[in-house]
Amino acid sequence: MPRFMILEPFTDWPPSRWATLGDSLLAYRQVDELSIIDEGRDFAVGRITLAKHLGISTRAPGWQAQPCVLELGGSLVAGLLLDEPSGFESGRVPLYLLCPCGAPACGALTARVRAENGTVLWSDFGTEVPYEKGLTQHPHQRRTGPFVFDAAEYRTTLAPYLG
Ligand SMILES: [Zn+2]
Repeated sequence: MPRFMILEPFTDWPPSRWATLGDSLLAYRQVDELSIIDEGRDFAVGRITLAKHLGISTRAPGWQAQPCVLELGGSLVAGLLLDEPSGFESGRVPLYLLCPCGAPACGALTARVRAENGTVLWSDFGTEVPYEKGLTQHPHQRRTGPFVFDAAEYRTTLAPYLG
């Protein structure tokens, strides 16, 4: 059942994701559903299994694994909640690490995370390392999102993974 929230118009929304009420200047944006799947190893956005969608292998063997920040918890999850800075020069926030050692310094798949009007937005998915400028985006990653979540539900979903 799709839900909609009243939002100020964002300039970067794909118009296909808007609905308007007659001549009203109010615009409505469908809210995406964030859930945690795969025993706390991954995100789902609606029916999208995010790691698979973005070409990330959370369950690859040994040093090929690219863990979700939910598995690592602590400041990585605090970053996702915008409670702490991400540690990336770009201000973007890691969702998955590219190396299983647990150090974001080895590189991460990141997103731009913004809080606006009672929502949290994820956009601009790509891979980067913390102290270098520049983001690598597969065409597929470039086409992912933007996703918009209800801010209160977002916090309720992610807060259990802070510990
Ligand atoms: Zn590493």
